[in-house]
Parts: sequence; structure tokens; C-alpha cells
Amino acid sequence: MSVSIGYDHDSRMVISGLECKCGLAHNEPKQDIYVGEDIIRNVPKYIRKRGMGEKCVLVCDRNTYEAAGRSVEEYLKADGFSVTLCMLVREGKVVPDERAVGEVIMALSRDTEFLVAVGSGSVTDVTRVSAVNAHLPFVSVGTAPSMDGYTSIVAPLIYRGAKVHRSANCPDVIVCDLTVMSKAPEKMFVSGVGDVLGKYIAKADWVLGSIINGETYCTASGEIVIEAVDRLLNNIPEIKKRTILGTRILIEALLLAGLTIMIIGHTRAVASIEHNIVHYWDMSMLKKGKSEPTHGTAVGISTYLIWPIFEAVAKDGFVKVDKEIVKNNRLSREAREKWVLGTYGDENGREIIRENPGDFLTWEEQERRIDRAFMCEEEIKKELSLLPDRKRIEDAMRLLGSEMTPGEIGIDKKTLNVSLRCAKDYRERYSLFKLLDEMGVLEKYLTMIK
Ligand SMILES: [Zn+2]
Ligand SMILES: [Zn+2]
Repeated sequence: MSVSIGYDHDSRMVISGLECKCGLAHNEPKQDIYVGEDIIRNVPKYIRKRGMGEKCVLVCDRNTYEAAGRSVEEYLKADGFSVTLCMLVREGKVVPDERAVGEVIMALSRDTEFLVAVGSGSVTDVTRVSAVNAHLPFVSVGTAPSMDGYTSIVAPLIYRGAKVHRSANCPDVIVCDLTVMSKAPEKMFVSGVGDVLGKYIAKADWVLGSIINGETYCTASGEIVIEAVDRLLNNIPEIKKRTILGTRILIEALLLAGLTIMIIGHTRAVASIEHNIVHYWDMSMLKKGKSEPTHGTAVGISTYLIWPIFEAVAKDGFVKVDKEIVKNNRLSREAREKWVLGTYGDENGREIIRENPGDFLTWEEQERRIDRAFMCEEEIKKELSLLPDRKRIEDAMRLLGSEMTPGEIGIDKKTLNVSLRCAKDYRERYSLFKLLDEMGVLEKYLTMIK
């Protein structure tokens, strides 16, 4: 395999060697992604290169305006662009809700030609969904290496107090100025690293899906992500110091993970059960009227939390399964639906059931998967043994000063317990948790989680 990442003289990322025999169609990402030091000044040039027009709305919040927004505004104006500033001003942090989206939509005028988001998660997501609804392209100027959503095509939002996902577009131009990003607060680095660590689980679950169900695994995408995550794990002290190099390693890992979504058209390489667990935490916190935990930090914690289960299977394979008992304990379709509605609530629950029609198995299919798991036990063990030791994940998180447990980010025991049991139901996407549930042994493995 020979995927390689480089940059042209303009600091524009160039990916080559995307050949892969997986059989999926691979799209060359069409976005212009720039990563480099002091490149904010080039934003006008990058935009002109894409011919996006002259009139834009620049979206930011108070912090990101200070970090980069003001400079971007000045450089754009000096270059002849017409810029309308839309600063989202809040007491606390900006949340990506209907108020924020409404503010951006109302800042647009008939002749607005594109939007510029200066910020990280929330500002980018608010701009992303506003841009798609206005049929306009947008530019993202990142201010922190805190999450992998810069290249995303989905916007996680809060609507009427509940978490929703809206499909949207990827920015045409992404600018990651390392000088700006290296000055982001420490906790945003913790979050970025946490989001990246989750990719180990996502990759393991993906390969498991290919072993058990013949799901297509894209080796090129898997390689891109794992190489980036390995590089990150090998350079934690540099990231801790927030040097230019450390910032580069982190933002590259986040961007490359996100880019696989462009390449293969889905998020398989970047999110699995660890993200589903966090999604449940987010939902529960919002339901209680509290704010969601920081995304990547929560992903890091859930990854670290479930790691022992992956290690146990890697080391000892599967525990014994009595298929007669499993068959007798199967949930009926009605009981399963009741469980999903009970845990996710009526509205979300129904959506989950509708979107995942293949999630209710016949006994024949369930039995096939159980048999297949035992037949391929050695292969599965080998794959899971590729995961680094949990100690390395722990050391990385501790060195960075991350919270380590769900309790530290406000997740109570009950929410945690439910999340570990219902995360597998959130998507049809295959995971070790799903397999263990189908084998009737998930509860046994959950006792390993302390
Ligand atoms: Zn994430
Ligand atoms: Zn492929």
C-alpha cells in the first residue's frame, strides 16, 4: 500500500497513491485543504483560486474572532472582498442550535456568494448547515485541532433541546493555520486526541464487520487512519507542548480521518461503538437540560473505557456460548423495538428502527454469525491484537491532562450503564458489541468495565 500525504508549494495537501483493491469507488477529495504556518494571510488567494465570488458572510464567536476572525476579515477586505460579520455572542459557549443557525441565515443577503466559518466544532457546524440550506459554498478556517469534523458532511446540531444530525456539505476550502491552532486552549488538544484515539476501535469494528458479514473494508482508508493515529500516539509529548509540529500531527490525524469520509462516502473509518456511546451521553445530558460533554474528550473516555473488552477477546478469544440458551433468550421483534424506544425515546427510537431495518435478525442469521465468529476466532484475535496496549492510551490521556472517567464529565452511573447496552442499537453498522450481544455474552464482557 502506498498512500502518501504531501503538500504543494502553497501548503495544499496532496494525497497520492489512493489505489486500493477493496472494490469500493474511491473519490479523490475535491476540497482544497491547506495546513501550514502563518497561512491565514493567504485565505483571499485560496478563495480566489476556487472562484467563489466576492461577497461573503464571516461566521465566528467572540473567541474565534480574536484567534483568527479579525485577521481573516482584514485580509479579505484588503483584498477587495465584501465581508459581513456574523459574530455569535453568548454568555457561555456557543451551541449549534436553531438560534445560532437562525442568526447566520439572517446575516445572508440575496447576493451573498459564500460563507466563511472561523472556529472549530460549533461554528463550523452552524455554518455548514446554513450554507447547504442557502445553496452556497463555504470556507472553513479552523482555530483548534479539537475534532475531526472539518471535512464532515454531517452537522450535529441541537434542535428544540435534542440532538439531531443534518446532512450538509464539506467546505470547499479548509485552512488550518498551525500558528493559530497551536494557541488554542489545552483542553481542545485533549479533545482532538480523544477523537483520534477512537479510530482504533472504529477500524477494529470495521474489520470485524468484514470478517463476520463480508462487509467491504477499504484497506487504503484503514491505512490512512491508522498511520495517522499511530503517529499521534507516538508524539504525545510534542502535542502536549502544543508545538507547531505537535499541532500538525494532531490536525493531520483529524483531517485524514475525516477525509476517508470523502474518499469512500461514509464514516465507517472514523466512528463506531465509541461514538455511539458518546451520542447516548450527549442525548441524556441535553434531556437533563445540561450541556453536552466536549466531543473528543468524551470519545477518548469511552474508548479507554471499553478497551478491556477488545483486549480480552484479542487475548483469549470468545467465552463459551450455549446456542440453545441464546436461542431461547432472543428478544422478539416487539420486545426489541420496545427496548430501543425505551432507551432512545419515542422520536429518536422510531428513527433508529426505521433507519436500521437489518438489525432484527432471524435465528438462522444469528446462528450463522455465532458460528462464523468461532470459525474465524484466530483471525479476529489477530486483528484485535493490533490495538496498542491500553496502558499507552491511558498514558497519553494522563499526560495530556484528560479526564479519564465518564463520572468526571458528568455522566452518572445509570446513564453509563444504559449507554453500554444500547450503543450497539444506534446503527446497523457492525461492532464487537453487536457480535457479543448476538452471541448472548455481552453482559459477561461488560463486567470487565470498571
Ligand atoms: Zn468524533
Ligand atoms: Zn479502498
